[in-house]
Amino acid sequence: MGFNVAIDGPAGAGKSTIAKRLAKELGFIYVDTGAMYRGIALHMIRKGIDGHDEKVVSEEVKNADVTIAYEDGVQKVLLNGEDVSGLIRTEEVSVMASTTSAYAPVRQKLLDLQRDLAKNNDVIMDGRDIGTTILPNADVKVYLTASVETRADRRYKEYLEKGEQADLKEIEEDIRLRDHQDMTREISPLKKAEDATEVDSSHMSIDEVVATIKDLCEQKR
Ligand code: C5P
Repeated sequence: MGFNVAIDGPAGAGKSTIAKRLAKELGFIYVDTGAMYRGIALHMIRKGIDGHDEKVVSEEVKNADVTIAYEDGVQKVLLNGEDVSGLIRTEEVSVMASTTSAYAPVRQKLLDLQRDLAKNNDVIMDGRDIGTTILPNADVKVYLTASVETRADRRYKEYLEKGEQADLKEIEEDIRLRDHQDMTREISPLKKAEDATEVDSSHMSIDEVVATIKDLCEQKR
């Protein structure tokens, strides 16, 4: 069993930025589980499927084979063998991923892949249900959060930095919708695991959050 760090929290809380930095500093593998759900969402969009049609999505997910690979330590998401890493960071994919990740066959499909990675490696894994469902015995569990306004603003700046157009109001609405969907779904809803440490990053720098979680890891190693 590897040393497992679970970081859960809502969209835009800074999970991936923090997890990537931590993974580098600790020499762990970073596993971005949201990217896997995004891969499945992209498949549904390409097939022109209505994400709210649970029956159709549950059937079609059988044709969406998602795997991950690492190139220079960076996670790539492969959808039926195609590297789709550059195509999954759009608002359309975000909202589709949040809708389709509520269905049992979608979650079931990714469960083993995520658990196997944690079994065989030291990992920092981020997502929504890592501490509660995927790795209930993780060595360190963090619930990383921030205010909706802070999270929307961070996402907005990310798009601008990539040279992409973005609408702050639309991003904030998408985040509120995803928070609601992710927190109220029946299977594996987003919530803080009882034994997770909550870190509110609204008024913290990246360095401060990284140092806080690193401390938690060092106490357990
Ligand atoms: O983390 P990210 O924003 O990339 O995740 C996209 C969507 O995938 C989330 O809104 C959530 O619905 C879903 N997800 C999930 N469980 C995870 C990771 C992501 O349901 N462990």
